[in-house]
Order: sequence, then structure tokens, then C-alpha cells
Amino acid sequence: MEYDVKYFDRFVRIFAKYLTENKEYLTQLDAAIGDGDHGINMDRGARTALERLGTMNPKTPRELLRIVGMALLSSVGGAAGPLYGTVFMKMSMTIGNKEKIDDKDLVKALENALIGIKTLGKAEVGEKTMVDVWEPVVEFLKEKVLNEENEISEICREIIKLAEERMKATIPMQAKKGRASYLGERSIGHQDPGATSSYLFFKSLCEALSE
Ligand code: ADP
Ligand code: MG
Repeated sequence: MEYDVKYFDRFVRIFAKYLTENKEYLTQLDAAIGDGDHGINMDRGARTALERLGTMNPKTPRELLRIVGMALLSSVGGAAGPLYGTVFMKMSMTIGNKEKIDDKDLVKALENALIGIKTLGKAEVGEKTMVDVWEPVVEFLKEKVLNEENEISEICREIIKLAEERMKATIPMQAKKGRASYLGERSIGHQDPGATSSYLFFKSLCEALSE
């Protein structure tokens, strides 16, 4: 499979649709262990990104991902804005000048996005953040695509299932990073909002393949 600007455009539109549809849900999750703005933040970012894509009409994956990253950085506050902004900026930089990339290139872009998240947020697996979804999914992709040479389209069902499991696995965790960590043990028993939007990210990445 080749990933061109049209693929990334579909991906961003699907992700934006999920964020807008789940605005209330993500906000409720964040209200339980944070300040109740994650859905509002991500929906605002999604709408800003779509507006800019509409006017700027990018011609390459790099340009498109950079526009989305800048839109998120400039319109989304809190922790999630810089973290998701970094995801798209790192992907854009990794892809570089290529008009089309292959499965391995996409995995490398996602790997660099995860490195960006961890460099910025300093969170490790088990601390109840978006890293709890991102790291296992990226490790799975590295094994299946870089080592075993599968195509992403062949393993999408497994990717979505893994992301969903890891999202749910944040429920019994105690938050060690971000606003939820202020609650200490009271953060236990709630699903992490950023892990939830990250699940939607990977679901969108897969769904954009089959349109
Ligand atoms: P804020 O916490 O500033 O209100 P949001 O509500 O938009 O920002 O996002 C909260 C989410 O951000 C959390 O659910 C968590 O997944 C993620 N997050 C917070 N801090 C970090 C961090 N240091 N590293 C990774 N993810 C983080
Ligand atoms: Mg919040």
C-alpha cells in the first residue's frame, strides 16, 4: 500500500469526525479526572485543522501533516495540544519530501511521533496517559511491519483491538503524569481521556485505508 496526500487527507478527516462526534464523551472522561476540556480541546483542534486544510490545499503528505500539526499547536491548549501537535509535526518531518510513502515509512513516522510524545511529556507506560496506547501499538507495528514485513492493511483489526484494550487498561491505573496525577489514588477507576483520543487516532489511521 502507498500512502499519498489523499490518504492523509482521508485520515485527518476521519479523525476529526471522531473527535467531533466524541466531544461530549472525551469531555466527560476528562471531567472525572481532569478539568473537563479534552473533548472541547480536541474538537476545536479538529475544526481548525479542517478549516486550514480547506484554504491551504496541501499537495504533499509533509505539507498536509505540518498544517494539521500547526493548527493543533496554535488552537489546542492544555497538555494535549502540544502532544498531538508534536505527533503531526514529527510525522511530517519523518516523511520529508516523498510524495508517497510505504508501510515501513508510515511505521517509522509513527515511531518518531511516539518519541516526540515521550520527549515532551516524559511519560512512560503505566502512568495513565496517551503513551499507554501509543507505545504498545507502535511496538506491535514495528514487529509486524518492520520485522515481519506485513502490510498495515492486513493487521488493522489487530491494531484497533490492541488500541482498545490498552485504552481500557488505563481504567485501573493511577495517574502519574498530567492533571489527573493531582488526584492520586482517586484517579483509579476512570479511563484516561488522552488514551481514548489516541484509540480514535489509530482507528482512523486504519479506516482511512479502506475508503
Ligand atoms: P489538560 O490536562 O492540560 O487539561 P487535556 O485535557 O486536553 O489537557 O488532555 C489530557 C490528556 O493528556 C490526558 O488524558 C493524558 O492522556 C494526556 N497527557 C497529559 N500529560 C501527559 C504527559 N506528560 N505525557 C503524555 N500524555 C499526557
Ligand atoms: Mg483537560
